[in-house]
This record gives sequence, structure tokens and C-alpha cells, in this order.
Amino acid sequence: MRQIWDIHGGVHPPENKHQSLRRPLATIPLAPELVLPLNQHIGNPAVPAVQIGQKVLKGQLIADAQGIFSACIHAPTSGEIIAIEDRPIAHPSGLSAPCIVLRPDGEDRWTALQPCEDPASLDHVALVEKIRAAGLAGMGGAGFPTAVKLNPRSTDRVETLILNGTECEPYITADDVLMRVYADEIIQGALLLARIVGTPKEILVGIEDNKPEAIAAMQKAAQGTPVEVVVFPTKYPSGGEKQLIQILTGKEVPSGKIPAQIGVLVQNVGTAYAAWRAVRYGEPLIERITTVVGEALGVQRNIHVPIGTPVAHVLEQHGFAASRCARIIIGGPMMGYSIEDPQVPVVKTTNCIMAPSIEEMPPAPPAQACHRRGMCAEACPASLLPQQLYWYAQAEDHQRLQNHNLFDCIECGACSFVCPSAIPLVQYYRAAKTTIRRIDAEKQKADRARERFEQRKERIAKAEAEKEAKRLARKKAAEEVKSRLEEPKPVVVTVDPVASAQEKAQTAPEDADSQHKKLARQLESAQIRVQHLQQQIAECDDATRRDALTAQLRQAELKLEETRKKLDDLERGVSLPLEQRLQNVAQKVQASPLDTQRNAVATIEKRLAVAIEKMEEAGREGKPTLAAFTQGVEKLRAKLAEAQAELAELEKQPQSPADTAADPQNDAAAAAIARAQAKAAAAATMSPEEKHAEQLRSLRDRVEKARAKLAEAETSGSEHVAALRTGLEKLEAKLADLEQQGK
Ligand code: SF4
Repeated sequence: MRQIWDIHGGVHPPENKHQSLRRPLATIPLAPELVLPLNQHIGNPAVPAVQIGQKVLKGQLIADAQGIFSACIHAPTSGEIIAIEDRPIAHPSGLSAPCIVLRPDGEDRWTALQPCEDPASLDHVALVEKIRAAGLAGMGGAGFPTAVKLNPRSTDRVETLILNGTECEPYITADDVLMRVYADEIIQGALLLARIVGTPKEILVGIEDNKPEAIAAMQKAAQGTPVEVVVFPTKYPSGGEKQLIQILTGKEVPSGKIPAQIGVLVQNVGTAYAAWRAVRYGEPLIERITTVVGEALGVQRNIHVPIGTPVAHVLEQHGFAASRCARIIIGGPMMGYSIEDPQVPVVKTTNCIMAPSIEEMPPAPPAQACHRRGMCAEACPASLLPQQLYWYAQAEDHQRLQNHNLFDCIECGACSFVCPSAIPLVQYYRAAKTTIRRIDAEKQKADRARERFEQRKERIAKAEAEKEAKRLARKKAAEEVKSRLEEPKPVVVTVDPVASAQEKAQTAPEDADSQHKKLARQLESAQIRVQHLQQQIAECDDATRRDALTAQLRQAELKLEETRKKLDDLERGVSLPLEQRLQNVAQKVQASPLDTQRNAVATIEKRLAVAIEKMEEAGREGKPTLAAFTQGVEKLRAKLAEAQAELAELEKQPQSPADTAADPQNDAAAAAIARAQAKAAAAATMSPEEKHAEQLRSLRDRVEKARAKLAEAETSGSEHVAALRTGLEKLEAKLADLEQQGK
């Protein structure tokens, strides 16, 4: 014989269970509308998975769980979704909340379910997933999502699994009837839950001794299984989770802890039944057994009721006489609450709808001052001090309320029941709990907001610091550049007329035969390029690419034309003799600064005219190169303005032959010309091989110098790096060409 423990306090209200047990379990016609709140459980509301106007089948998912702490919702019958909106819900506050409204089509057609012939073949994860997908939430209390409760922390080993069949509230008989009718399935559900939590040492079903038929049915179903049906004396509120654990195991759940932390898991018998249906038959939780009771009804009984059925519809099916009804209560007389709007729907946790007559449940007498007799403390099953809690609640002393373990109060109403002053104590505790939870939530929200604000401040400060560091670095760099600019600059000779003259003298004296060969090669290459580009244009589908190719073709054609002209000139003997070319160089070098500047202005003017013409052509034809040409024109205009300004300055200065003669640059030019003439004379006596060798040597020198300049520019981070690199590449190509010719 198993030992039974007693709990502190408790009361014995009149039973009144017989009224609803006189008739068998029944069903009622479907309501014209089913209203399914998105939050029928503790945790996050579900998220609609359907749209207005959508047709759904019975058992189809219509709202999905939002996160772990949530539960799915399914269509209780087939029909059409006609609204997703706020509707009044069954809650002591009388508030409205988001609901999915389903209009049944009367066909009650099921969606395809996924039954499992052999649940023993499924592992823990698969079983929990099936329970989660079925939208199970505790059916005997606050609606804790079952899948969450079946996944205790890894440190919490479940030693005892308890099925709660106590149903200690007067009037309510829903679990009693469930156990009488579905005992076998409840036991299967118990075994299934035991497997999920890791085969606990004991599986107990706790039932008060006022349910003999249910006890008999459950004991019969449990035969040959490890499930033990434990019967204990009736006392209210033995069905409280912590109280039942104490009665069956003698263990007390410490304040602020949960049963799993002492190795116990409690599930309602209705939840075990629903878990079995979900795993074995794939059925989601879309209906439940509810007690419909009260003397304002013509018929009192237990019914299968689809979730979402309006309370008004249930009452109508039971001969409801509104004029006789004191109030409509959801839940029992001890822990239930009154509702104002009978259109609120039945949800997963609705175990009873009461419509008592005025005689049956007369209005409570006016509350009197507390007599301090302490009967409430004697009745409290949680060993609290209800009298003190009442004072602190009145004074809104939240700290003291918490110090006196307000949150251990299970709101059983035993204290109110025994209170000689008829003080509705439990209402004060409910209100105080709601206020404290709200303040805590606001505090947490404010803490999170403060945290976010601090993090943002930190981010801004960091960004500011980085910005300031960059600004200082820029300032330092600017100061360094400024100080470098202010240093006296070495005189840089940008144009070395001597070197230029030498170069020209070196490259000029090619014999007619070599020049002819060279130009013929260039002509052939230019012709090949033109043909290649023409072919590419013909095959190109991309308009932008075709424009670019056309521009390249034009350039290639110009080059071809130019080469052809040079070749013609050479063949006709038009090429300038070396002497003439040297004379031209000499004239150029000997020109006065004023003449040089005039020439420069004239050259820029010519380039500008050509650029403007190209820009206008690009504009007319809408070419993508317009922007580049426009930019080029702007630059040339700026350059021209600069050159014209310099020319104006020079024209203001006196120009005399003496000045020119004294110009050391002109002396250098004269020397360069002399050297170039000597070189030309020497070249005239060289063999072609010697000339080639000399050209190679000179070009290699220039390549070396260009490389050195580029390296220097890269080291100093000069802006001319790109230009120097291009120049070097050209020289290297020229050298490669010359080396090829020598082979
Ligand atoms: S309502 Fe709370 S304080 Fe009152 S008896 Fe029940 S547990 Fe104790």
C-alpha cells in the first residue's frame, strides 16, 4: 500500500459534481462561427498561417508556433477563414485579442493526417516534435506548451511522472468523464510521456476518492503496466501541482522552484490523452471535453466541444435561461472567473462553463473589515499568510508582497472561501501579481532600452574617436606637404633641349630601305587591326560595347591612313633630309620664351578645337563617350586659359636680342646642336649593324632611367606613378621590337 501524505490547509466545499454526471458524454452541433485566439497558452502568440478567404480542412495548421515557448493552432473543422481580427476572449480582464475566425462548411472534412502504427519506434525527439506539431498545451491549468514541459533541463532527471486526475474543483467533471471513457488511451499516453522523459522510476495517476467509476476504469486500464493509480482523500485544492506532488511523494517543491528541479513531472490526464491521439493518430488538439453545468441550464453534462466554439452557442445547446442566471463563469466556482460577453470562445484550457442560478450562487455579501481570526492562513495550502498579503496588496507594497511569497499563491480561493468577513482576497492577489508582472516587464524593457542606449553611445564615441584620429592624420599629412612645398625647390629643367636634340639625332638617320620596311610592317599591322575591329563590330550584340569598338575602329583607320601617307611620302621621296630636321630642332631650341609660349598657346587651341568637335559629335550621336569628351574639353580650356595668362605676362616683359643671347639655355641648345651634328656625322659612317647596336644601347639606357624614375615615384607616393608606368611600358615595347629586329 502506497503511503499518502497530507497537505497544509485545504477546505471542503460542497461537491456538486453529480449534476453534470447524470448524462453521458455528448457532442453538440457546430457553431456558425469558430473563433480561435492566437494565444491560448502561456508564451508567445501563434502566427497566422492562413489568409482571409482561404478554405481550410479539419486539422489543418492555421497558426504556427512563434518560437519555442508557443503552440500551434489547427482548424477544428473544414470551412473558410472569414476574418483575422481582435475579438473578446475568455480572460478575467474581458480584453479582446487577435483571433482567426472560421466559418464551417458543414462537411467536416479532415486534412491528411500522419498516424504512427508503432509509436515505440519513434525516438524522444520525434515524439516531442509530433506533440509540438499537434499544438498541445496543458489542458488542466494555465496552458503551458506541453512540448516545452517535456524538454526539462539536462540537469533535471525525472524520477516520478504524475498524471493529475484529481479535478478537485466542485462542479467540474470533465477529467472524471475522460477517465471513465478513455482510460486505455490515457494509460497509453502516460507510457508515451514516460518514454519521452527517459523512463522514470514511477508513473503515478493521482485521483481523489470521489470518482469511483474513473478510478475503476483507470485501474483496469493500468493492469499489466508500470502505471500506478493512487487514490487519496478528497480535499480542495489537492489538484494544485505542488500539492499533488506532496500528497503522492511527500516531497515539497521549494518556493521559486519548479517540480522538474526535484525530479518530478506532472501532466494532466487530458494532456496524456491528447498526446496519445497526436502521436498514434496524428490528430492535432482541436477539441476537448468541457463540463457544462449550472441551474440556469436545462441540460447539464459533459460535451466534446470544438476549440473556438462561442460560449453563447454552448449555452444555447443546453437550454440556457438568461433570466435565471447569476453570472457566466469559465472554470469552477473556486478558481474560475466571470465573463461579461458570452461570445468569448472555448479554448484549449476551458474545462468548465458554469451558468449558476441566482439561488445557487447568490451575490457575495459586502466585504467587512478583517477580523484577524487567521482562518485564511489555516486554509492556505501554500502555507502563506493571506491576511498580510491582503494588507500589502491594499498598500501596493510590492516588495513586502514578494517577500511574503505572493507568487507561491496558486489562486485557489481557499482563503476567500473561509474568510468570515467575505473579503475577496484572491482578487487582490491576482491584481497585485498582474501589477508586479507589468512593472517587472516594464523594468526589463527599460533595462534593455538602457543597455541599447549605452551600446549606441559607446558605438558613437568609438566612431567619433576614429573620425578624430583620421582628421588628425589628414591634418598632419597636410602640414607635412605644406612644409615640403615651402622648402626652397631645386631648379628642375622640365625640357632638356640637349638630350632631346641628341635623341632626335639618333633616331633620325635611318636609311630609306629600313624606313620603308618599317612603315610597310606598320601598314600591314594597321590593316589587320582595322579588319579585326570590323569583324568584332559585326558580331557584337551589346550596343555599349559596339560604340566602344566603333571608336577604336576610327582610331585604327586614322592610324592606317597616317601610315599609308608616310609610306607614300617615302616612296615619292618627300621625307625631310636629316640636315633640315636638325635645323628644325635648332630653331625650336633657339626660340625665345615668348615664341615658345605662343607656340604652346597655338597648339592647345588646335587640340581644343579638335576636342570640341569630337564632343559635339558624341553629343549628336548620343554616345556614352560624351562625358569623357566633355571633361577633356574642360581641362583643355583650363590649360589654355593658363597658357594665355602666362603669354600675357611674357608679353609685358621687355624682349631684346641681348636677353636672348645671354640666356644660358640657348648656350646649352647650341652645344646640343653641335653634339647632335657630330653624332649625325658619326652615324653617317656607321654600318647598319653598328647603327642598330647604338640604338639598342641608347634605348636600354632610357629604359633603365625610366625604371629608376618609376621606382622613385612609387616610393614617394607620387601622383605621376601611372603616367611613368605607361611611359616605361611603351619604352619596353619599343626595346623588345628593336631587339626582335636584330635577330
Ligand atoms: S488563494 Fe493563495 S493565499 Fe489564498 S489560500 Fe489559496 S494559495 Fe493561499
